[in-house]
Amino acid sequence: MDSNNEMDMTVPPDKEMSFLESVNLTFDMALTTLDIPEGMGQYIKNVNNVYQVRFPVKINGVVETFIGWRAVHSDHRLPAKGGIRFSQMVNQDEVEALAALMSYKCALVDIPFGGSKGGLLIDPKQYERESMEKITRRFAFELIQKDYIGSGINVPAPDMGTGQREMSWIASTYMAHRPNDINHLACVTGKPVSAGGIQGRVEATGRGVVFGIREFFRYPEDVKLAKMEGNSIEGKEVIIQGLGNVGYYTAKILDEEDGAKITGILEWDGAVYDKNGLNVEEVFQYKIENGGGIKGYPKGKFTENSAELLEEECDILIPAAIEGVINQSNAGRIRAKLIAEAANGPVTFKAETILNEMGVVIIPDVYLNAGGVTVSYFEWIKNLSHIRFGRMNKRYEENQNNLLIKAIEQSGTKVPQELIAQIGQGPAEIDLVRSGLDDTMRIAFQGIRERFWSNEKVGSYRIAAMAISIEKIYNSYRLMGIYP
Ligand code: NAD
Repeated sequence: MDSNNEMDMTVPPDKEMSFLESVNLTFDMALTTLDIPEGMGQYIKNVNNVYQVRFPVKINGVVETFIGWRAVHSDHRLPAKGGIRFSQMVNQDEVEALAALMSYKCALVDIPFGGSKGGLLIDPKQYERESMEKITRRFAFELIQKDYIGSGINVPAPDMGTGQREMSWIASTYMAHRPNDINHLACVTGKPVSAGGIQGRVEATGRGVVFGIREFFRYPEDVKLAKMEGNSIEGKEVIIQGLGNVGYYTAKILDEEDGAKITGILEWDGAVYDKNGLNVEEVFQYKIENGGGIKGYPKGKFTENSAELLEEECDILIPAAIEGVINQSNAGRIRAKLIAEAANGPVTFKAETILNEMGVVIIPDVYLNAGGVTVSYFEWIKNLSHIRFGRMNKRYEENQNNLLIKAIEQSGTKVPQELIAQIGQGPAEIDLVRSGLDDTMRIAFQGIRERFWSNEKVGSYRIAAMAISIEKIYNSYRLMGIYP
């Protein structure tokens, strides 16, 4: 099932590709499995437009200049959607790669958006809250001015280094500049619930990762491919890199709801390992209280060189921090059976070639972390419809269910109390969001595995996912009348 080797001949053996090159090469490989005209393939692959901006902000009496980007990879569907990243490492190449991944991700999970991404070159840890607000608002203003934010054109969301707080500032800046836009709240997603957000968005990417892994374990053929047995996550040893938004919820849900053993947690300042399992909540609280790091965590074995723990034996390795952490320099030493890509681009193209040969199965980013944009889509719909999910039907369904219970009991069957408590409730917003997310992740994985197992030219889940995405984007363009 390894079709990487042939393509790989074009890449010098010692050269690690950039993130964008990796994404594009995966695209090219997927394209060879499809019957799509070359010219259209090239058009779909490349980023449509990128806006680079420099702007000044006065911080503690001194003017500092910041640089940021917003890339639109594809606008075959509008709005274009994608997070904004605040990081010291961000650059145009990275933003373009992430924007491309957003197009493929949305297409894959049937979210009717184009792909976009933004980045601001900054180390958020170096600035006070008040300065961060000034910088974020100014960056948002620059994007609004050039029509790179708006509910029908381009809708940002959180990514590394940003969260509800920044999204709230962006929404409020947009409102100030576009006071007549009745859909102003839909200009950005990932907002706090009290500011137009949706229940379940904060946990969405992590929960989506878990839904994806659960779906994988429902197929014995696939589990066997990863040299594991059984149909359950329970007892599986999991190592996770990055205990931020995505990593924390992924680890917490796997630990508390699925009975996995989180044996390793890696952060920027070191890693902790305990073969018997770590308490995720405890490590997370320690991290909050210790300036965002886990150095000095008193339980388990601490390793200063965090990345070393990527090579520890485990069933599932979940990179949930930054890209390129599994590359050709360490891929050969990976001892995980399954790599679940919660982060974007954590495994380089070269590393994947090595891992494929070793029989390590990878559930790719383009699918696995799509939970964030899925629930962002729900939030956007909520904002456009100006009503919270469940408001019209919760009590109605509750009453109908209670009537049903009464009818069953009147016919002589006693319904157990715990079932009454469960059946007798109508769906709240969080129930509907989780249900929609679960359904999205299940259906998308089924499509990927079907493509993987049915077409021998498709050598990995990643190529299968990419091929499905390209096909869908191509069909959108065809329906618009753009075809050779
Ligand atoms: P975050 O900033 O909340 O968390 C990142 C975590 O990784 C932090 O705890 C940070 O300290 C840690 N980290 C940074 N460098 C590290 C290193 N070298 N080694 C170990 N840990 C390190 O970011 P996030 O939102 O959780 O995003 C993580 C990844 O998930 C990114 O690749 C992002 O693009 C992707 N993603 C995020 C979302 C979302 O909704 N937030 C959605 C889809 C994909």
